[in-house]
Amino acid sequence: MKSSRKLIDENGLRVDGRRWDELRPVKMEVGLLANANGSSYIQQGKNKIMVAVYGPKEAHPKHLGNPDRAIIRCRFHMAPFSTEERKSPAPSRREVELSKIIREALEPAVFSEYYPRSMIDVFIEVLESDGGSRCAGTMAASLALADAGIPLRDLVAACAVGKVEGQIVLDLNDVEDKEGEADMPVAVIPALGRISLLQMDGQFTEEEFAEALELAQKGCRSLYEIQKQALKQRYLPEKEALEAEEKGGK
Ligand code: ADP
Repeated sequence: MKSSRKLIDENGLRVDGRRWDELRPVKMEVGLLANANGSSYIQQGKNKIMVAVYGPKEAHPKHLGNPDRAIIRCRFHMAPFSTEERKSPAPSRREVELSKIIREALEPAVFSEYYPRSMIDVFIEVLESDGGSRCAGTMAASLALADAGIPLRDLVAACAVGKVEGQIVLDLNDVEDKEGEADMPVAVIPALGRISLLQMDGQFTEEEFAEALELAQKGCRSLYEIQKQALKQRYLPEKEALEAEEKGGK
């Protein structure tokens, strides 16, 4: 629903004080859950999302298995306390859609052909929800896959762009998402030069679409660096300790 509140002030600042081309503060971590094969946590604006990955494991029931590759199953779920008003814990149509599109955004990045007749389960749990939760969930899911040691062609970086009071803006928050004129989530797999998710809600002119897509890709490049940093933070100290041990043993 539209409100009378201004979403961009006279100084060009958005409701949370950002300029049009700025991302929200973002924090990513991997390897937080002891009982999953891979896990990650992302905080982006007010989004707080936890991801757990199980697998690759033998497909069960067996008839679901593909003799050529692993199948990926994805569940995007929002906790009842993740929204302003309590949300039913039952999967909504939106969560079913998001589970599908996030799976499709991840699939091209995974070397699933290495694991025939197997299954990889990805659980995305939204603890607190702001705009762009599908993008944040996609990035965190690719980190959790990497944390599980599943070979990837690359990580998947994602962010939304949109139009607010006629201005193209990067990384919409909840208010901009709901009250703005357009919202376009984009996911990219940098090593493949491939866009694996592109949706649009609202309207852009052809020129605005081109400008928005360029801005989304720029946002994804910055987020991709933060994703790599999260993996390095978790695994570089371990690698350096191992190398030091090896050197000491020589
Ligand atoms: P995205 O989070 O990827 O931008 P949407 O554009 O569909 O996805 O949703 C925008 C925002 O609407 C969500 O981030 C969330 O904050 C809010 N939202 C989604 N589902 C609900 C719900 N059932 N109840 C309240 N708010 C919701």
